[in-house]
Amino acid sequence: MSDKKCIFCKIIAGEIPSKKVYEDDEILMFHDINKSAPVHILCVPKIHIDSLNEVNQENIKYVAHILEKIPEIAKSFGISDGYRVVTNIGEDGGQSVFHLHFHILGGRKLAYMG
Ligand code: AMP
Ligand code: ZN
Repeated sequence: MSDKKCIFCKIIAGEIPSKKVYEDDEILMFHDINKSAPVHILCVPKIHIDSLNEVNQENIKYVAHILEKIPEIAKSFGISDGYRVVTNIGEDGGQSVFHLHFHILGGRKLAYMG
């Protein structure tokens, strides 16, 4: 369920501090330590999943729960009019922490990335 060496598992366990935005039994949202935008929040499942590549029928409820909660959190930060949700997968995808997470980015005009 958790990986002893994983930094996000340590944050979930409270072994490393974080600035929490939202938490329940299944998910945690906290401010990114190195902001890429005025609002930069990370959303993680409370079980260790390496990346979107490892999502399956059993654990997809965590992903669904994160996606369901994101609009509410975006609204509470005043960015509902426009923001971006990103998950990086693998080294070529820019993933640096191998515990599935969704970035919420907003609070400024974001460059087109298509
Ligand atoms: P990614 O590159 O998609 O794997 O994103 C990992 C993100 O985690 C980066 O934006 C980092 O700034 C962020 N990060 C790494 N360590 C911490 C930490 N201790 N607290 C908050 N954010 C972190
Ligand atoms: Zn983990």
